[in-house]
Amino acid sequence: MIFQEKYELIRKLAREFAEKELTNDVLDKVEETGVFPQEILDKMAKAGFFGIKLPKEYGGQGGDHLAYVIVMEEIARVSAVASLYVSSPNSLAGGPLLLSGTHEQLEKYLRPCVTGEKVLCFALTEPGAGSDAGSMTTTAVEDGDDYILNGRKCFITMAPLSDYAIIYAKTDKSKGSRGISAFIVHMDWPGVSCGKAEDKMGLKGCATSDIILENVRVPKENMLGELNRGFSNAMKTLDVGRIGVAAQSIGVAQGCLDEAIKYAKERKQFGTPIAKFQNTQFTLADMATKLTAAKELVYQAAIARDMGKPDSKVASMAKYFASEVCNEIAAKAVQIHGGYGFIKEYKVERMYRDCRVFTIYEGTSQIQQMVIANALLK
Ligand SMILES: Cc1cc2nc3c(=O)[nH]c(=O)nc-3n(C[C@H](O)[C@H](O)[C@H](O)COP(=O)(O)OP(=O)(O)OC[C@H]3O[C@@H](n4cnc5c(N)ncnc54)[C@H](O)[C@@H]3O)c2cc1C
Repeated sequence: MIFQEKYELIRKLAREFAEKELTNDVLDKVEETGVFPQEILDKMAKAGFFGIKLPKEYGGQGGDHLAYVIVMEEIARVSAVASLYVSSPNSLAGGPLLLSGTHEQLEKYLRPCVTGEKVLCFALTEPGAGSDAGSMTTTAVEDGDDYILNGRKCFITMAPLSDYAIIYAKTDKSKGSRGISAFIVHMDWPGVSCGKAEDKMGLKGCATSDIILENVRVPKENMLGELNRGFSNAMKTLDVGRIGVAAQSIGVAQGCLDEAIKYAKERKQFGTPIAKFQNTQFTLADMATKLTAAKELVYQAAIARDMGKPDSKVASMAKYFASEVCNEIAAKAVQIHGGYGFIKEYKVERMYRDCRVFTIYEGTSQIQQMVIANALLK
């Protein structure tokens, strides 16, 4: 796709930032310690990455979805975990607020996330309710001016690092997914705790854990949106979130392709660079072609939103195709590296692990296929 100059400038800015700040030394330390450096998060906030597509009124950059996709892509090309810190305020955690928050809620909760002073997370999944999120069992029972929340959320990105969480809970058990409401919960309120941080395959440097809710008293003013309309808020949030995961996918895939090309030119076997073998050439050609197709789909999903024609089917297609292609490209990049691809010193080892979850979180590939098929058959 040919981009207007302003998008090329955004890409240049994000690429330069990623290459300058997310050095091998920094990323190796993140892998080792599981902690992402605060000073880099501060720089990301200062560069405006935490509010690319959020309204200027709340401290954001007021950019569109295409600008967001490009920044996500360029950051993920170097570090998938760094891109999670961009997607959270812009999309998965900030999205529910943007969709349903009052002016006061946006001022109080969104603005400090854009500046990086506070961290927010999105808590939908439960141990017994993943793909079928509507079957959640967390409850919110009205009690005077408050709701009392009880239940357990799992796999919550950034939960241990968060100041606030958007919690989805059943306010009317008899109504299934139409009986779910959303709440803004402070992580330091009595009765809120986190499980131990999960020991994940990849995306080290961004803690994921359960959130446990035991008789948590939440003031009614902290309900987000209307009573029993929380599930719709979550699904609309995921529609945008999926474009973000698709953007991460094309970013990591580009990083893998770049590494594979570099290595193929350097590595010699049988007296010649492996890039001279037709098998290597055809593998690279296949990777690049599929990546280009994935990019077009991801940009199309973003542009549809920017033109005021959001399309869940296209967002799901973008997430499904880009995440699957990314996993395929990462596996091929490791193969081109031979044994060295299995060694931590080489970037593709980390990229291969990091992207494995892209076909799983924010709706598995099978759930995306269901969304696409439902749209085709309706
Ligand atoms: C690192 C990480 C971070 C995450 N971050 C968050 C977060 O911040 N907030 C949050 O709320 N959640 C988060 N999640 C949860 C994530 O969205 C879920 O893991 C995901 O939706 C799948 O749910 P599940 O793990 O329960 O799998 P299940 O739903 O149990 O699925 C298991 C398998 O069955 C398949 N399957 C299920 N139903 C069907 C069907 N009807 N037809 C065909 N196949 C089906 C699935 O595709 C999958 O292959 C995160 C998960 C991970 C791993």
